[in-house]
Amino acid sequence: MSHAKLLCLGGCREVGRSAYLLSLENKNFLLDYGVSLNDVPLFPSHVSPNSIDAILLTHSHLDHSGLVPLLFSSRITPRAYATQLSAEILEYLILDMMKLSGSYLPYEVEELYKTIENIRPLGYGEEVEIGGVVVKALNAGHVPGSCMFLLKSKNFKVLYTGDFNSIETRLVRPVDSDSVLLECPIDLLVVESTYGDRPHEDRALTEKGFVESVVDCVEGGGVVLVPAFAYGRAQEMLCVLYKYANDLTVYLDGMARSISLELLSFKDFLRDGGLYEEALEFVRFVRGPKDRRRLLKEGGVVISPSGMLKGGPSVFYAKRLADRSDSAIFLVSYQIPNTPGDYLLKHGKLAPDSEKVKCNVKWFDFSSHAGRSELFDFITKVVDRSEGRTKVVLVHGEERAVSSLEEALKGKGVEVLAPKNGELLTFKL
Ligand SMILES: [Zn+2]
Ligand SMILES: [Zn+2]
Repeated sequence: MSHAKLLCLGGCREVGRSAYLLSLENKNFLLDYGVSLNDVPLFPSHVSPNSIDAILLTHSHLDHSGLVPLLFSSRITPRAYATQLSAEILEYLILDMMKLSGSYLPYEVEELYKTIENIRPLGYGEEVEIGGVVVKALNAGHVPGSCMFLLKSKNFKVLYTGDFNSIETRLVRPVDSDSVLLECPIDLLVVESTYGDRPHEDRALTEKGFVESVVDCVEGGGVVLVPAFAYGRAQEMLCVLYKYANDLTVYLDGMARSISLELLSFKDFLRDGGLYEEALEFVRFVRGPKDRRRLLKEGGVVISPSGMLKGGPSVFYAKRLADRSDSAIFLVSYQIPNTPGDYLLKHGKLAPDSEKVKCNVKWFDFSSHAGRSELFDFITKVVDRSEGRTKVVLVHGEERAVSSLEEALKGKGVEVLAPKNGELLTFKL
């Protein structure tokens, strides 16, 4: 009897360094190969490029992609698949990581370019056959260009979700659940569980609350800093502001500028390419220190990386706005514990040795991951449609999130596993 195997190289009971080696029909598929970006980056377990038949990259966020270039550092060139947009964005994100953590990384810029050159683009709904296994990419709704991978052998089907979102945001369409359900029965579902213990507020309410707070502050003569990740969140905030408050003066700074322009060539990956193009005409690009000083004087909104105030121009703005009671810092992403953004939310200070800030500080839940009820819904629909034969493997979630979701699913009679890093799971075909 043959088996499918899943070796957990990283990303189990944690968010970061996602990496899973799936063996199906004697072929080995590496599902993502990311890093955890701490002060010193953490890596998943080693895998030899020799042993891999294909690398499947769901999206270019570094917790999924950050170690892929290492696999291109020998003379062997493994096959790798991702959407064309993920391949393009990989260059920006890895070069940026190299600036901050380059000395810790086990590869150089040559390997990054070798990776990008060798990625074979796979569009949404497109299939490719690798040694008797058909691999299909489906929209994951997480960031522009993100995908899930479905792997189909003669009598076993696997879905690896990567990061996904089942609500429509201003920037991207939701996960393609219809196609997923059409592909059922699915035997093995490897699914993220970032928000396994937390629901999200209704997105329309979040958008409304955010826009009202921004308008309030700007009308009072202040500056609003919106720290945002350069890829995805910055463009989403831009679309939200353009849609509801296009009489405001909105600026874009840092790496978000070049990534925003890049996305213009990939409008098919966006919910509304027309709206996005208009939003880019409406926003002003900050071109240097002079523009920065001027906007701080004249007022308006500035969207800038990094999203957790760890680097990039958002640090510059935060320091200058901290003392201004007419201004605000509105955080719009999850803040990793111990980042300056997290510290600001918890203590009202930018750092332990600084004064309490006088500006208004708020956090808005613009998550690009499915919340608890959406995760539960997605998983149980797949299980129901597969006559209960699906085995569910929970990954990409902190301990608390994974355990909470595991318990809820077990309560519904779902067969669920929550492995640890290093575990090898075996499934009979
Ligand atoms: Zn992601
Ligand atoms: Zn992730």
